[in-house]
Amino acid sequence: MHTFQFSRPKDAATAVATAAQAKTAQQGADVRFLAGGTTLIDLMKLNVEAPARLIDINRLPLDQIEVTPDGGLKIGATVRNSDLAHHPTAQRDYAVLSQAILAGASAQLRNMATTAGNLLQRTRCVYFRDTAMPCNKREPGTGCPAITGSNRTLAILGTSDHCIATNPSDMGVAMAALEATIHVQGPKGSRAVPISEFHLLPGNTPQRETVLEPGDLITHVTLPPPLAGSRQVYLKLRDRASYEFALASAAVVIRIDGGNVTRARIALGGVATKPWRSPEAEAALVGQPANQANFRQAAESALRDARPQSENGFKIELAKRCLTHALQMAATS
Ligand SMILES: Cc1cc2nc3c(=O)[nH]c(=O)nc-3n(C[C@H](O)[C@H](O)[C@H](O)COP(=O)(O)OP(=O)(O)OC[C@H]3O[C@@H](n4cnc5c(N)ncnc54)[C@H](O)[C@@H]3O)c2cc1C
Ligand code: SF4
Repeated sequence: MHTFQFSRPKDAATAVATAAQAKTAQQGADVRFLAGGTTLIDLMKLNVEAPARLIDINRLPLDQIEVTPDGGLKIGATVRNSDLAHHPTAQRDYAVLSQAILAGASAQLRNMATTAGNLLQRTRCVYFRDTAMPCNKREPGTGCPAITGSNRTLAILGTSDHCIATNPSDMGVAMAALEATIHVQGPKGSRAVPISEFHLLPGNTPQRETVLEPGDLITHVTLPPPLAGSRQVYLKLRDRASYEFALASAAVVIRIDGGNVTRARIALGGVATKPWRSPEAEAALVGQPANQANFRQAAESALRDARPQSENGFKIELAKRCLTHALQMAATS
C-alpha cells in the first residue's frame, strides 16, 4: 500500500518551502499540494500518482473572490468551482466562465473542486490512467499507444508525435477567452503568468504540462475588467447531456456594434492539448458582419491546423459547428 506524509500549513510560505523540496514540478512530483482532491486522490487510488508527501492547502487564506480596483476579478486558488460559478459578479460580468464551470463534472464535484486544481487537472486519456499500459506522459520514453489505439476523445490541435492527450478543463477554456492571469508564489518569489503561457504543448516532454517549477503554489487568478457590451457564451458538446467531458466546446466573448463584430475572444475546449485560444478565428471575425457565413468562416480558420487521428476525425466538423453555433447564440443573445 502507498504511504505518504501529510501536513496542513496555515501560511503560504511554509507550503511553498515544503513543496520546494520536490525533485520535479507539480505534475508527477513527489511533494504535492492537495486542494479539493478530485483529481489527485482519484489518480492516487489508481496508482497513477504516488506522492511521498501531501501538503493540504485548504487552511491557506486563498478562498476569497474580490473585485479588483481596476474593475477586474481576483479569484483565490482554493475558491470552490461552485462558489465561483454562482458568484454574482461572475454571473453578470463573466457569464462565459460561470457557464463553463456549470457545464463541468457534477454538483458534488464542483463543491469540492478548486480554481487552481481545475487548471491543473490531468488528462482523461485511458492509457494515462492505466498503469498496465505504456504512456509517455506518465512514464517518459515508454511510447504513446493512443496514437494507434483508442483516440476518439483525444486532441486534434496542439498534438505531437509523443502525446495527443486532451486538456479536459471547461473552466480553463473560458479563462483563456477572458485572458486570465495566473499568480504564482514560488521559492524565488511571486510572478504572474498569462493563461496563454501557463500550459505547455506536449512536444517531446508531455510529462511537463505547465510552467510551474518545484514549490510553485498558485495563489490566485485575476480576470481583466469585463469587455463592456460583450456577449458571452460557453457551448459544450459531449456524448451525454451532463457529467461528461467535452468532445468539443467553444468559449465566445464578442462585441457587436452596428451589425459588425468589433471585438472577439475565442477559445476551444475538448479538441486540444491545452485550453485553446484561437487568434485565427478572432482575426476572421473582427470587422466583419455578424452573420452565419462569417461565423462558419471563423470556425474554418480555427480548425485549419487540426491533425486528426484514426478515430477522432469527426471532431473537426464537430468543433466547427460548435463554434459557429456558439457565435450565433452570442449574436442573438
Ligand atoms: C467524475 C469526474 C468528472 C469530471 N468532469 C469534469 C468536466 O466535465 N469538466 C471539467 O472541467 N472538469 C471535470 N472534472 C475535473 C474536476 O473539475 C477536477 O478534478 C477539479 O477541478 C480539480 O480540482 P481539485 O481542487 O479537486 O484538485 P486536486 O485534485 O486537489 O489537485 C489537482 C492538481 O493540482 C495541484 N494543485 C492544486 N491546487 C494547487 C495550487 N494552489 N497550486 C499548485 N498546485 C495545485 C495538485 O497538486 C494536483 O496536482 C471531473 C472530475 C471527475 C472526478
Ligand atoms: S496521448 Fe499522452 S497521455 Fe495518452 S497514452 Fe499518449 S502519451 Fe499517454
